[in-house]
Amino acid sequence: MALIVQKYGGTSVGSVERIQAVAQCVCQTVKAGNSVVVVVSAMGKTTDGLVKLAHEISHNPIHREMDVLLSTGEQVSIALVSMALQELGQPTISLTGAQVKIITESEPTRARILHIETERIQQQLNQDKVVVVAGFQGITNTWEWDITTLGRGGSDTSAVALAAALRADYCEIYTDVPGILTTDPRLVPEAQLIDKITCDEMLELASLGAKVLHPRAVEIARNYCVPLMIRSSWTNEPGTWVLPTKPQMRSLTNLEVARPVDYVTFDAKQLRVSLLQVPDKSGIAARVFRKIVHQNVDVDLIIQSIHEGDTNDIAFTIRTPFFKQAEAVAQTIIAAIRAYQETEADLAEVTVQQNIAKVSIAGAGMIGRPGVAAKMFASLADAGVNIQMISTSEVKVSCVIDALDCEYAVSALHKAFEVDEVGNRELRVPTEWGLGTWDLGEDMEIEKTDASFSLLTPTLSIRGIALDIDQARLAIRQVPDHLGMVAKLFSLLAQHKISVDMIIQSPRCRMIDGVPRRDIAFTVAHTDAEFVRETLAKAAAEFGWGEVILDGAIAKVSIVGAGMVRQPGVAAKMFEVLAQHQINIQMIATSEIKISCVVAQEEGIKAIRALHSAFGLAGSQKIQVPV
Ligand code: ADP
Ligand code: ASP
Ligand code: MG
Repeated sequence: MALIVQKYGGTSVGSVERIQAVAQCVCQTVKAGNSVVVVVSAMGKTTDGLVKLAHEISHNPIHREMDVLLSTGEQVSIALVSMALQELGQPTISLTGAQVKIITESEPTRARILHIETERIQQQLNQDKVVVVAGFQGITNTWEWDITTLGRGGSDTSAVALAAALRADYCEIYTDVPGILTTDPRLVPEAQLIDKITCDEMLELASLGAKVLHPRAVEIARNYCVPLMIRSSWTNEPGTWVLPTKPQMRSLTNLEVARPVDYVTFDAKQLRVSLLQVPDKSGIAARVFRKIVHQNVDVDLIIQSIHEGDTNDIAFTIRTPFFKQAEAVAQTIIAAIRAYQETEADLAEVTVQQNIAKVSIAGAGMIGRPGVAAKMFASLADAGVNIQMISTSEVKVSCVIDALDCEYAVSALHKAFEVDEVGNRELRVPTEWGLGTWDLGEDMEIEKTDASFSLLTPTLSIRGIALDIDQARLAIRQVPDHLGMVAKLFSLLAQHKISVDMIIQSPRCRMIDGVPRRDIAFTVAHTDAEFVRETLAKAAAEFGWGEVILDGAIAKVSIVGAGMVRQPGVAAKMFEVLAQHQINIQMIATSEIKISCVVAQEEGIKAIRALHSAFGLAGSQKIQVPV
């Protein structure tokens, strides 16, 4: 007998018929001999309706009152689902987040879970009842006992946190699609089901726009080793296993806030290639990286920063087994660009810098916590380490620094984030998974391709493609390249609780008024963009920055897959596909398992369709999403 947490999303409980279907499904699971805790969302678009209502009354409703309002949606669902189960003869009890004691921090509208009391649920399960819990909500443990919500889409987080706290065998997330698909089927109906995916890959996909799963839910699954099954509530077909790759079990206190950073990594043997003033034409990144593929060098971070006038800067780092080839690489790149340009007059500048290190902090705990990146920059500044290049995703921040500074940097970051070099994880031996066994490593292993690797190889291991059109891009020109300046900038945003993603610091450093200066660009949520522009414009005078520019009409397209590690052809292919479709790339940021490009907003859907088909992800059957 297993203990299973089942979560049903809004569409799955969107009508009386759907609620009855959910009750049937729960009963079947109980009849098969399992104990079940059900977590439900608000019916259909209830939460959207409540948000709209609030905004009809107030332009800027107080967050506390929003929580009181929005949490009502889930309360309706638990009562109705519980009644439907009782109609089928199944004893049940419905409980709100407060009744369970899902204790959260006092951060209205975006609270993180601190702790879940399991006693009441356990007691009810022991009486053979199904416990139906309201998702998305919790309560503070201050004397006010305020109701809190976890942020939109937060029922996934409630479900996985409950599964962790109850040490459930696994958690099933029932939704309106057959599972995790290679991309959003509403945009690309040929999207295919992925049968299993690692938490790390899912974390990137979810935070890059695949809203099928809340990234915080994936984080908890990974940290507490909860296997997740994402599946459709319309069929009995199995969906996607989202699997943690390292058995571990943390303390259940401060569940979501214990550690924002899981680990600090570094690679002290890299070199950096910078291409400055590359023509801003679609196709240039593709040409450069196609040449690099043929060099068979191991490209790591790639960034392309904002353009000034009609040129871009592209920089990338290379891992050093190929160190000796640096000069050859530089020559090839120069040749590639020369071939691309009609005249040699405006030839881009190519520089190769040796003795470079990359230090990174990683962990999903940094999602929605702008202070984490700011703290990294400040710790480096305090240690006297200058940051030459930054590339971020929502779950990782990497800084390129001088190799000589690497040791200081790593020890400063360990101290700041209280992590050990190897990660201080407690290992739990997975004796009873309740699922039989599976081999986590098996098809996640990547073989290094040989030197004749071709761009046309159809077996690139890309798991999925995501589109995010909810972001805006900000650029600050001519930020003085002083120690601690980036830290100041991002601390300022953190003070205002602004989450920043895809921070890119230009590799080009210019002397203006006797001061070395760089441009910095990053993306923020659309809803924060105008406020950020005003805040930065005010700060610009004080800190001696240049112009602050906002572009709201951007889309971020990303490809994700652990298989791209050490496959230089993947980046080249992505850039090439975009070029073939005349889509100009404005910004690039990479991590080991993802590549994100910012493009014009109106090109977003075209871009993901093109990439989905070019990477061979399209299936023969179209996915129908229930209306
Ligand atoms: P629920 O209400 O069940 O929580 P959501 O609307 O939050 O459901 O998430 C399901 C939706 O996520 C799907 O209808 C689909 O449009 C969208 N989606 C985006 N990317 C993906 C993806 N890669 N795989 C599956 N669904 C996706
Ligand atoms: N009802 C909440 C929302 O719509 C939570 C959820 O559905 O996950 O955001
Ligand atoms: Mg959802």
